[in-house]
Amino acid sequence: MAASLEQNDPEIFKLITQEEQRQKRIIRLIPSENYVSKAVREATGGWLTNKYSEGYPGKRYYEGQDVADVVENIARERAKKLFGADHANVQPHSGSPANLAAYLALAEPGDTIMGLALPDGGHLTHGWKVSITGKIFKSVQYGVNPQTGFLDFNLIEDLAKKHKPKIIICGATAYPRQIDFEAFAAIAKNVGAFLVSDIAHIAGLVAGGAHKSPVPFSDIVTTTTHKTLRGPRGAMALCKEQHAQKLDKTIFPGLQGGPHMHTISAIAVALGEAATPAFKEYAKQIVKNAKAMAEKLSEYGFNLVSGGTDNHLILIDLRNKNIPGRKMAKALMRAGIESNCNSVPGDTAPPFNPSGLRIGTPAITTRGMKEEQAMRVAALISRVADNIDNEDVLDKIKQQVEALCNQFPVPDSFI
Ligand SMILES: *Cc1c(COP(=O)(O)O)cnc(C)c1O
Repeated sequence: MAASLEQNDPEIFKLITQEEQRQKRIIRLIPSENYVSKAVREATGGWLTNKYSEGYPGKRYYEGQDVADVVENIARERAKKLFGADHANVQPHSGSPANLAAYLALAEPGDTIMGLALPDGGHLTHGWKVSITGKIFKSVQYGVNPQTGFLDFNLIEDLAKKHKPKIIICGATAYPRQIDFEAFAAIAKNVGAFLVSDIAHIAGLVAGGAHKSPVPFSDIVTTTTHKTLRGPRGAMALCKEQHAQKLDKTIFPGLQGGPHMHTISAIAVALGEAATPAFKEYAKQIVKNAKAMAEKLSEYGFNLVSGGTDNHLILIDLRNKNIPGRKMAKALMRAGIESNCNSVPGDTAPPFNPSGLRIGTPAITTRGMKEEQAMRVAALISRVADNIDNEDVLDKIKQQVEALCNQFPVPDSFI
């Protein structure tokens, strides 16, 4: 009888193996992506995938929860301890539903929410018009200062005073600078708004002490678990005790049925890894690598939004190079460097072919690369830009990328 995936479904087995090889052979710079440990992959593929656990530990609707209850409690306790939160809900299926839950826990449909606009680095779920969050709430969007690329708290405060939102959302998907959660909290307090901080991208930096924490200043903090935090695809919501019951009820039964217990077990594993000294080193190294890469890119004449970075990501405005974002991303991929094209503040190009490129250092840092390699990657990016239509040169760069990847194999464990 066929048992393993390889025997049972060789077609899918082959494709997964192909993806493994692809990820190992290239330099992955998409700032929302990473490599998880073998332990996290094992938990994700474990027996808890077979279990229905609607409800919360100690109050489930089906029998047989002795293991599931313990696993979910461990995940919650580890999350609370790591982030210093009163309460943690580890059930949101992903970042987007976690955000919707946070808003519905604090406001009613029709209320006003205020978040960072997508073209300026915000996430779809921060009230952008195509997202459900931009449809069921009255959505007001703030931007970054188009001259500096930085969040401008005077503009944000003016907007908040004018629109009196029920919720202010801070956090970003393409913002290369520290986020001043305390400043957001002051504005929220001033206008009587709740503050939701979405740290999907930077959760690993926050956990590792490489970015200030929003937890003391926020009503609810949401995060994905699969970006810098280096866990399985999933999400969490952290909050103050006063919102705990409402938040839990909004997630289940409000928005979801059964939690993905296999994912929750893997979140627990990732949170265990994130509590180690090695993780702190990793978090700090991500930022060092991004700064080194940004500095080199500037030297090569790239225009960086905000002039640089103090987190894990870099947003390149390619307009001075006269290369459309998608063309640059495709040429880089051809040379074995994975990135994504991205809108830049004030972009007049269409979102499907924007003027910018978004890159980041979490995945190369997980591979053990340091500043020297980050600068080397910057040089390779510059060479691609200078030879954007030259297949032979792109081929040569790809060989150099492979050599670098061979020097830094993807580790199976980080502790
Ligand atoms: C990635 C991201 C999300 C959404 O996560 P999904 O798991 O893709 O739904 C939400 N907010 C921010 C800021 C993100 O970067």
